[in-house]
Amino acid sequence: MTKFERPANQSAANQAARGNKGREVYARCHKAQPAAAEGAEKGDKKIAYKIYKHYLTKNRCYKTGKKLAKPSGIVVHSTGCNNKNVTRYVDMAELGTVSSNHWNRDNISKCVHFIIGWSPALKQVVIVQTLPLDICCWGCGSGSRGSYNASHIQFEICEDGLTDQAYFAKVMETAQWLCRYLMDMYDIPAGKVVSHKEAHANGYASNHGDPDHWLKKFDRDMGWFRKNIPGSTGDEEGTGDSGSGNTGPISKLQTVTQKKDASLKGTWTVSDPTGAELRYGAGASKYASMGNLPKGTKVNCYGYYELDASGRQWLYVTYGTKVGFIAKSILKK
Ligand SMILES: [Zn+2]
Repeated sequence: MTKFERPANQSAANQAARGNKGREVYARCHKAQPAAAEGAEKGDKKIAYKIYKHYLTKNRCYKTGKKLAKPSGIVVHSTGCNNKNVTRYVDMAELGTVSSNHWNRDNISKCVHFIIGWSPALKQVVIVQTLPLDICCWGCGSGSRGSYNASHIQFEICEDGLTDQAYFAKVMETAQWLCRYLMDMYDIPAGKVVSHKEAHANGYASNHGDPDHWLKKFDRDMGWFRKNIPGSTGDEEGTGDSGSGNTGPISKLQTVTQKKDASLKGTWTVSDPTGAELRYGAGASKYASMGNLPKGTKVNCYGYYELDASGRQWLYVTYGTKVGFIAKSILKK
């Protein structure tokens, strides 16, 4: 019975998320703004996100207001439009210049619960909640078996030109954090987090390819996305994977300003006899290691790098499903 009395996942991330769930319920019951959600934690890095709340009350979906009882899953979308500004969709002047095509208009027949994108005013990636969580969104259309609009929380990620790795890393990390936040709120397993493309394959959405087409540009897929949701374990996916944290997220940095040098692009080999630590950021003292890669290990660099406090160059590299930084001085091309 213990299994049912105690949450199986007692990790710090899960506990923090459960705390947020309590705060959210409190806020909802007291008709107050929810507290800024914070506390997702993996490794020794703490990341806090604020959720801006701005319901699109003029949108036809909001006006229809069909009740969503208890969501059983999450659908991840990306916009399919080369405009990373969240103000393309959300009329929040504090976040930047609002596009005349924003979605808070009564002739718009699509809407989701959250939109993740770039704030030109704040110069950072932000999360905006655009619908109450107890209203069905109009996000994925329908397929041969029905529609996840009736059962799933859904969010959009604003696409850019699909080549900026730093932006990609930041929005995916933010999206993974948002999934954890919602998963803990509604006891949703990671396996129930699907892309629009997968929702279509399951028979519950229109025929779209997002955001898998974007993930593919950086050699990633929805399996990677689910594995890197903070605190996600193999059990949640039903794969038997122990979830040891061996599949690092793309970036653990709150803000990433990566420099690029095309000549760094290519395969590099660990040359130091003691191996190389693959770190969450550029700097040995500041950032934790995801693991030691022994001498001879090959990693791939797309040309991005960062300098640490003492001016040492760190390459932004991928190793299997892990992505992180290694000091260039202990790598050989
Ligand atoms: Zn979509």
